Amino acid sequence: MNLEKQLEKLTKERHGKSIKACSDAQLYDCVLQLTKEQMAEKPAIKGKKKVYYISMEFLIGKLLSNNLINLGIYEELEEILKKNGKELAAIEEAEPEPSLGNGGLGRLAACFLDSIATLGLPGDGIGLNYHYGLFKQVFKDKLQKAEKNDWIEKNSWLTKTDTSFEVVYGDRKVKSILYDIDVIGYENGRNKLHLFDVESVDEGLVKGGINFDKSKIEKNLTLFLYPDDSDEAGNLLRIYQEYFMVSNGAQLIIKELKEKGLNLYQMHKYVAIQINDTHPTLVIPELIRILTWDEGFTIEDAVNVVRKTCAYTNHTILAEALEKWPLAYIEKVVPQLVPIIKELSARVAKKYKNPKVQIIDAERKVHMAHIDIHYGYSVNGVAAIHTDILKDTELHHFYEIYPEKFNNKTNGITFRRWLLSCNRELSALLTDTIGDGYKKNADELEKLLAKADDVKLLDAIEGIKRQKKEALCTYIKEKEGIELNPDSIFDIQVKRLHEYKRQQMNALYIIHKYLEIKGGKKPTRPMTFIFGAKAAPAYVIAQDIIHLLLVLAEIVNKDPDVSPYMKVVMVENYNVSYAEKLIPACDVSEQISLASKEASGTGNMKFMLNGAVTLGTSDGANVEIHELVGDDNIYIFGEKSDVVIEHYAKADYVSKDYYKKSPVIKKAVDFIVGKQALKVGHKENLERLYKELLNKDWFMTLLDLEDYIKVKDKMFEDYEDRVKWKRKMLVNIAKAGFFSSDRTIAEYNKDIWKLN
Ligand SMILES: *Cc1c(COP(=O)(O)O)cnc(C)c1O
Repeated sequence: MNLEKQLEKLTKERHGKSIKACSDAQLYDCVLQLTKEQMAEKPAIKGKKKVYYISMEFLIGKLLSNNLINLGIYEELEEILKKNGKELAAIEEAEPEPSLGNGGLGRLAACFLDSIATLGLPGDGIGLNYHYGLFKQVFKDKLQKAEKNDWIEKNSWLTKTDTSFEVVYGDRKVKSILYDIDVIGYENGRNKLHLFDVESVDEGLVKGGINFDKSKIEKNLTLFLYPDDSDEAGNLLRIYQEYFMVSNGAQLIIKELKEKGLNLYQMHKYVAIQINDTHPTLVIPELIRILTWDEGFTIEDAVNVVRKTCAYTNHTILAEALEKWPLAYIEKVVPQLVPIIKELSARVAKKYKNPKVQIIDAERKVHMAHIDIHYGYSVNGVAAIHTDILKDTELHHFYEIYPEKFNNKTNGITFRRWLLSCNRELSALLTDTIGDGYKKNADELEKLLAKADDVKLLDAIEGIKRQKKEALCTYIKEKEGIELNPDSIFDIQVKRLHEYKRQQMNALYIIHKYLEIKGGKKPTRPMTFIFGAKAAPAYVIAQDIIHLLLVLAEIVNKDPDVSPYMKVVMVENYNVSYAEKLIPACDVSEQISLASKEASGTGNMKFMLNGAVTLGTSDGANVEIHELVGDDNIYIFGEKSDVVIEHYAKADYVSKDYYKKSPVIKKAVDFIVGKQALKVGHKENLERLYKELLNKDWFMTLLDLEDYIKVKDKMFEDYEDRVKWKRKMLVNIAKAGFFSSDRTIAEYNKDIWKLN
């Protein structure tokens, strides 16, 4: 049956109407159904060895557009709908965004699943099916409020399976149900994302915002992603969740091995388990437990085979983000793992005396990363500089023991979502210009370099940027009620809110510009500063920074002397869908973390691919972007990571010195608690932030502020040389091929997984 007939049949069956008569929401329901049926017909990807990518987060975003592209039927369906007076883009708006991740780490897992399937590699994701996932952000009284994010609808991408396992805790047993989401490769076969859930979960437990009874484990286990862990009950719940995921994952892996009749002693020849950050670490003792308790392995044999099967990805050097659970907590939640963890720890202690490499430390805390490093076969960082810092500094003692385990896998992004889907216009122009080979082999984007002087092409790239800026203006007007000028420079910083990412430094630049304009110094061209960021609900200073940004938006946008020259917007509830609208419209990509602190970043790659120019520090993948595009096509500022690391080692950074030394810094910082800010903002939030910047400033905002202002001003000046700027855009697009997650996954496979 052809696609149109199939769709017409579905609209009749499900809504008793023709395509023409359906609403967008009804059509979404039918197109979803149609796409799921098409996906189910794709062959499952098979092979001798399979990777399981296990992660607490999969920030998959809306799936319709991507699945249609990967199936190769996007254009055909768009045509059919158009013929019936419908817009595919409008129908896509009806899809809710799954709320299964926080930010970069979860988005990476989603890009990886896409690339694993696209390369035709057998590989499934394992995670949890959070009903409300990460909170929905709303602004009230210029403060962030968290609401539950109710994303699961009756008809969705989730398919309930009849797979179910029992997960045993110290004080209860919980039965799981497995939901699957099909993952289709670009013009390739099908893998799966396995999301475990509890049968007894009770959405009614949620009382106001995101509050719920943390003790009712059977009812709350899969309600939220990373529930507030500022108290013991929250911490215990995290361990309940982590164990739930890994116990189900381990049981599924062993079940699949047995169904194929494979020898568990040879597990490593058939299975690789990639542990995404430390959250799934308990999979190691859990596998050892199952093999020794249920499969008759000696502890020696179990440890050996698990060590050859598990590989660990490190995502951060921030001490507070490296999990260390009190052994007593693990004892409360999963006492059966404690003797195994103690055994693993004792084996390490016997061999290595250095306290820095122990699993259980002197305070009886379990260092999850240390389990991964001792009992896995690979440890990878996510960008070259990050892996170097792991080897030289953060994990140096481990590197001395296991140099062969350490390797780098610079992150990547799937171009299906971050170019083909979110910027169809640019993708079409690229296809016209260099053919469509780049869709399968991203390095072919370099063919653009030969046309760097083609005026028509440069104008076309600029034209698409302009079109995307106009579309974003329309969207922001509707969503945020703020009118933007598409002729202004769009300067965008969107990412989780964290002091190390330094949104506060960008805010100080805005204050500085505001004061300059008030003083009569007008910019050549208007500027638009756009932010999007959620802050962890328990992270007080991050909330204060959001407050400052909302205060600045009000002051700037309402000031008739200034608003013709600059606007500030903090968009509400930044997520993947918003990113897909913001990124194609960006001129200046803000990647301004304190050097050494952003492991890689992937936002930087998405912006570059869409023709934005990076303003960044020498941090994470910015370093590799810089090497690829060269000095003329990126703006780098700030102290380098070695200087920053030395400041920490010597504890000699004093923010007040910078404040006292520089009148520009002083004026900008003082503005935070000045009359104007206090008039529209809250004293408590603004004063707390001011004091933090002056007395602590742990992420060294003031260290780089003057250089940031200087380089950003230069960048805005250079924007006026339009031909040169358009060439910078072109070079960034041309050099983005390296950051395709297809390249990243090919490397994981060659060096770590070795699937077929
Ligand atoms: C890519 C992405 C991120 C990661 O952004 P960074 O700038 O690398 O921190 C976070 N959130 C969303 C929604 C994303 O799409």
